[in-house]
Amino acid sequence: MPDIIQLLPDNIANQIAAGEVIQRPASAVKELLENAVDAGATEINLMVNDAGKALIQVIDNGKGMSETDARMAFERHATSKIKNIEDLFKIKTMGFRGEALASIAAVAQVELKSKREEDETGVFIEIENSQVIKQEPIAMQTGTSIAMKNLFFNVPARRNFLKSNAAELRHIVDEFIRVAMSFPEIFFSFTSNGQQVFHLEKGSMKQRIVQILGNSYAAKLVPVQEQTDYMNIYGFVGKPETAKKTRGDQYFFVNNRFIKSAYLNHAVMNAFNEMIAKDSFPMYTLFIDLDPSQLDINVHPTKQEIKFEDEKIVYAFVQSAIKHALAQFSISPTLDFDLDASIQSLDAVSKPFTEEKKSSASSSSLYNTFTKKNQSHFVESKSELKHWRDFYEKDKPQPDTFKPQVEVTALITQNPKPETQNLLQLHNSFIVVQTNRGYFLVHQQNAHERILYERFALAVEGKPIATQQSLFPATIELHAADAVLLKELLPDMNHLGYQLEPFGNNTFVIQGTPADVSQGNEKTAIEKMLEQYKHFSSDLKYSKREKLLRSLALQQSVKAGTSLTDKEIKVLIDDLFNCAIPNSTANGKPTYLEFKKEELDKLFGR
Ligand code: ADP
Ligand code: MG
Repeated sequence: MPDIIQLLPDNIANQIAAGEVIQRPASAVKELLENAVDAGATEINLMVNDAGKALIQVIDNGKGMSETDARMAFERHATSKIKNIEDLFKIKTMGFRGEALASIAAVAQVELKSKREEDETGVFIEIENSQVIKQEPIAMQTGTSIAMKNLFFNVPARRNFLKSNAAELRHIVDEFIRVAMSFPEIFFSFTSNGQQVFHLEKGSMKQRIVQILGNSYAAKLVPVQEQTDYMNIYGFVGKPETAKKTRGDQYFFVNNRFIKSAYLNHAVMNAFNEMIAKDSFPMYTLFIDLDPSQLDINVHPTKQEIKFEDEKIVYAFVQSAIKHALAQFSISPTLDFDLDASIQSLDAVSKPFTEEKKSSASSSSLYNTFTKKNQSHFVESKSELKHWRDFYEKDKPQPDTFKPQVEVTALITQNPKPETQNLLQLHNSFIVVQTNRGYFLVHQQNAHERILYERFALAVEGKPIATQQSLFPATIELHAADAVLLKELLPDMNHLGYQLEPFGNNTFVIQGTPADVSQGNEKTAIEKMLEQYKHFSSDLKYSKREKLLRSLALQQSVKAGTSLTDKEIKVLIDDLFNCAIPNSTANGKPTYLEFKKEELDKLFGR
């Protein structure tokens, strides 16, 4: 038997390794922008075609590379930024590890042009499959231009995995904003298919925020700034009245690197406490600087998560800094605390941060007693789905999209029959519906979500929902990434009764909305829908349309805590049991629980 182990050829090994660093066009954009920043550029231009699938080019006026460095730069583990393992602990530049350019050269056709100040001519290098195929001197200004074409041209499996141009472009916009936000002293421009998306002049942090997030924040930013030996925080939060229904405008940077942290976000939300509505999100752009040795360096550089040595101190610090800022600007009524004292005594630490409470209902014994036995909310047996309708107003015309797959069986006779007279609303949240064998406890919000979902599903399949024209069309200005998303959803939104028109600059005119969205609330409705959508958007198993339907249903459903008139209650219950699948929401939450009389009797010892 011959030996069977072989070493993979370099270009294949590089392609495999590249997968970790370059997952999609946006990852390459991030690496190239960060390299340009690290090179000390004061002007950085990003150009993409076809959402980066055809071309990503970054041109900077940074320090450039020598001829040898230019060739070396594309070798794996080639970096000018660290020399030994200790350097990893104090790294101040954006990228490190020396993997980005090697990865890019493994999965795209690359053209590099670079010149240093002290050199007469620059160098031009062309690379394909990690091989230099051309090199010659060129005349150019100091700086570097890297163009990568046909990303994943040699890895079709990855190329096929890429999402629509709109989705990939949205990721690129996100990455661009994250870099541009943290370097207001650098000029940035961004064009997509020759059209300008951003043109960001050098300026102050405040100006940069307004350039990126929109003029509506211009007079509404509260500065945050606190310094201690342990860490510094600076940046801005939006005044409470600028809080939005969508989470978009929230940025945390640690040592100038964008991070996502639910924990720190919680600290900010906590500081805003009673000042904003519960379901709204304040804007913030906050920079935290601390000794890199206080960060967990084992976190992969392409990941946005981060670990602090001492999370609780950071939490307390962030929370008090924001409270302090809001108080100083007389926005918060609580003036009676002192920042340093509160950090030293670690006030927020003594009341430890608890994870979101698990729904207590699901663990209560009552809930278990009834749900486990009857499972009325599980859509397990398809034969059970339809019979409601047969029992309930037989002769009403039914939506025909949701044909049950299984014919009605003998089971019918065992199904409970809801009575829609004398309905009772409890706690403005639940509705009691008596049946022939007990009662249903209907969750009004979940029920409405189911009803809306089926209505919207019908609408996109064929008969559109009527639009109510706005008398005074409102405009809505979105975060660039949200604008890209909304554009993508416009055709389906149209069927659902939203008449929206792009108006340039991430602005849309709301010409009309479905009749049940009240005038004046159009903007909020759309913002909330986008927020919901983003919530689902990492869920690959649903189509765009499905996510839209679910988002709208969730967002427009009448909320728990809303008092309903008798008529509204009756319509809700009628509509629910007219649904094809009345017993759960599209997202799988039960719409009602069944309580059987015989089991109630047993509980009472009868
Ligand atoms: P890293 O950034 O981790 O060092 P990269 O693969 O991104 O690794 O880049 C390798 C090296 O190429 C960098 O260390 C730097 O010396 C050089 N380089 C990359 N991009 C630029 C640029 N835009 N201008 C000047 N030098 C650059
Ligand atoms: Mg780099």
